[in-house]
Amino acid sequence: VSPPAPAAQTGKPPLLVAVAWPYANGPLHLGHVAGSLLPPDIFRRAMRMRGHDARMVSGSDCHGTPILLKAEKEGKTPAEVVAFYNAEHKESLRRLSIGFDLFTATTTDNHRKWVQEIFLACREAGYIETRTQKAPYDEKAKRFLPDRYVEGTCPHCKTPGARGDQCDSCGKTLDPQELVGPVSKLNPGSPVTFRDTEHFFFLLSKLQPDLERYVAATAGHWRANTINFTQNWLKDGLQDRAITRDLTWGVPIPAIPGSAKDYSDKCIYVWFEAVCGYLTASIEWAQGQGKPEEWTRFWTDPKARGYYFLGKDNIPFHTIIWPGILIAYNKARAKRGQPLLNLPYDVPANEFLNLSGLKFSKSQGVGIGVQEVLDRFQADAVRYYLSINMPEQKDADWTWEDFQSKVNDELVGALGNLVHRVLSFTKQNVGAIPAAPPASDPFDRKVTDAIAACGDDMGLHLDSVQLRPGMRRLMDLAIQGNAWMQDAKPWATIKTDRTAAEANLHSLLRLIKALSVYMAPYLPTAADQAWRMLGESGSVHDQPWSAAQAPLQAGHKLDDPKALFVKLDPADIAKLAGPAATNEPQPAPSSQKQASAPSAGSAAAPAGAAASPTTITIDEFQRVNLRLAVVKSVDAHPKADKLYVLKLDVGDLGERQVVAGLKAHYTPAELVGKTVAFVANLQPAMLRGVESQGMVLAGDDGTVVSVLEAARRLPPGSRIR
Ligand SMILES: [Zn+2]
Repeated sequence: VSPPAPAAQTGKPPLLVAVAWPYANGPLHLGHVAGSLLPPDIFRRAMRMRGHDARMVSGSDCHGTPILLKAEKEGKTPAEVVAFYNAEHKESLRRLSIGFDLFTATTTDNHRKWVQEIFLACREAGYIETRTQKAPYDEKAKRFLPDRYVEGTCPHCKTPGARGDQCDSCGKTLDPQELVGPVSKLNPGSPVTFRDTEHFFFLLSKLQPDLERYVAATAGHWRANTINFTQNWLKDGLQDRAITRDLTWGVPIPAIPGSAKDYSDKCIYVWFEAVCGYLTASIEWAQGQGKPEEWTRFWTDPKARGYYFLGKDNIPFHTIIWPGILIAYNKARAKRGQPLLNLPYDVPANEFLNLSGLKFSKSQGVGIGVQEVLDRFQADAVRYYLSINMPEQKDADWTWEDFQSKVNDELVGALGNLVHRVLSFTKQNVGAIPAAPPASDPFDRKVTDAIAACGDDMGLHLDSVQLRPGMRRLMDLAIQGNAWMQDAKPWATIKTDRTAAEANLHSLLRLIKALSVYMAPYLPTAADQAWRMLGESGSVHDQPWSAAQAPLQAGHKLDDPKALFVKLDPADIAKLAGPAATNEPQPAPSSQKQASAPSAGSAAAPAGAAASPTTITIDEFQRVNLRLAVVKSVDAHPKADKLYVLKLDVGDLGERQVVAGLKAHYTPAELVGKTVAFVANLQPAMLRGVESQGMVLAGDDGTVVSVLEAARRLPPGSRIR
C-alpha cells in the first residue's frame, strides 16, 4: 500500500515510474533488487515528496518457453508456476518496503485485451506483416521447438551435442538447420525436421528514421551506457523481428480482420507483449482506483514523463523496441483521432551487482535470495548497502565483509548513533524538545545552512536519478552531525550554561528531523520511526521535501528513543554467506596456490597434506562442493604457456570456466569428453586475466599428472562424497 501523493497540485509533471517485469520462473534475488527494483522505489518516494504525482507499476512476466518447460518438468500447469512466483515476488517486495501502486502479472484479461489491440493497431498502421520461415519441428512431440532445444553435431568443430543457437565447444552462433543429425532435446533421440511456419514480423527496419529522431530528441539526459547500447543498435541497422511463436502459453494472436487463417497454435512472443505491460498495468491501476481514465494523465499528457528502470541487459527493449511499438501504435491512434501516447522520457539502466566477483545467475547457483537475507537482517540495512553501493555507473560487488562494515560503521555507527545519542541525552537531561534559539545563534545558523544545502544537493541528485551520490550526501551530513555534537559538548555545558546547551540540542534535534525527511526515500522504516520519536504527526512519507526545514514542536515530551538500526552479528553473516560466498580466509588452497601449482591444483595434493598435519571433521570436508564435470572444450590460455582454459558442464550448476595447469600433461583431445572431479565452490580467481570458477582435481607424483576421472559413467553434476 503506497502513501497518497502529498502535493499533487504543484504544477510539476506527473511521473510514470515503470519497472522492468521480473520473470516468474524463480524467486527474486539481490541482483534484481539492486538492478531494477530498489532504484525506482527510492525515486518514486523522493519524487512524491518533491511535489510530483508519481505512480509505479510493474508485475510478473509470465509467458514464454522457459516457464512452459519448468511446468512440464515439475508436473504443474504453467499457470500454477507463475502464480507461485508472482506471490513470491510480491512477498519479497513487501518485506523490502518496495511499494508499487500496482504489481500485476501478464496473465490478466486486461493485459491480453490491450496487447491484442496494440498488435492489431500496429498491423493496421503497416508495421506488422506475416512471413513464412522454416522452423525446427519435433516429429514425436508434434510441435515446433525453440532453437536451443535442438541438438546435433557442430558443422564447424564436429563436436556432438551443439545447441541450435550456439556451439559451446567452438563458440560459434548457429542456425538449427546447420546442425548435422539434429535431434530434439525434449524427447531425446526424436528426429527434428524443418517445416514451414507462418509468423508475424514487427517491421523495425521501417521504424529506423522515426527511432533515430526520437533518440536524438530525447537521449540528452540518458546515462552513457543507455546511449551507447542504443546508438550501437541504430548504427548496425534495425532488423525486422518475428513477434509470434509456435506456442500456446502466451497472449493468443487475435482474429485478423479479413483473414480466415487459424493461428490458434501460436501466440504473441514475450518480448513484444511484456513491454506493453507498462501501459496495460497503468490502465489496470486506474480501473482499480475506480477512475478508468486516470491512466491518461501519465500517458497522453505531453507534460507527463515516463521513467523506465531496468538492468543494462534490457536496454534495447526499452529504447528501441518499446518506443518502436509506441510509434507504430501512435500512427494508428492518430488516424483514429485518439491522443498520442508518451514515449519513454528516461531509461535509467543500472549495471550489474555481482556477488563477490561472480555474476548473479540462477542457473549457476550464484545469488542471495531476498527472503533469506530478510530473515536475518533489517530491510533498511539491505536497502542502505544496495544504495551506497548501487551499480549506477559501473558494476558493483556485494561482499559480506563490506556489507558488515558499511552497515555497522556508517548506518549504525554514524546515522543511527547520532539520532540515538541526541534523543536520549535530551530525554534524560531536558525531558522535552527545548525552545528554539534566537536566529542569530551561530551554531543554529551552521546547522540550518547545512540542512538547506543537503536538501538542495540531494534534490539535484534525486531529480536526475543519481541515487548513490544522494545517499552518500545524506550519510556525510550524519557524520558531520556527530562532529557537531562532539564540538557542542552538551554533557559539559548543561552544568554551566543550561540555556546554551538546550539551544544546541534544539539545533541538533532539527538536524535529526531533516535527516528523517532526507532518509525517507532510502530507509523508509527508520525514517518514519525517527519522525515519530520527534513527536511529528502522520507519516514522513506524506511530507513535502521542504518539511526538512520546518520548525520543531518545542515542548513536546520525549519518550525513550529506540535504536533505528541493529548492528550486524558476524555469526549471522557467516551462516548466510556460507563457504562459497564468505570473504573470510578459506581452509581450501588459495587462488594464488591454484595459479602457481604445476598441476590443476589439488586439495588432496601431497604438498598440501604434509603442510597440514591436523585432521578435519566430516562437516569441514562437506563444505567442499565436489562434483563430477564433463570437459566440453579446452583452449590455450591467451597469456600463459602452461595453462589451459577449460569449459566444464557441471549439470545443475551449469557451465563453468576453469584455468588449469595441464598443458604440459595433456593434449586438448585427451581431455575433451572426460568426466572429472571438480571443486565447485572455490572462490573464483582471475588467473593471468582469465576468470577461473573452480578447480579440477588431479593426482601428482612430481612427474606424472593425472586428472581424477569417474570409474563408472555418471551424469555431470553428480555429487562426490
Ligand atoms: Zn563447434
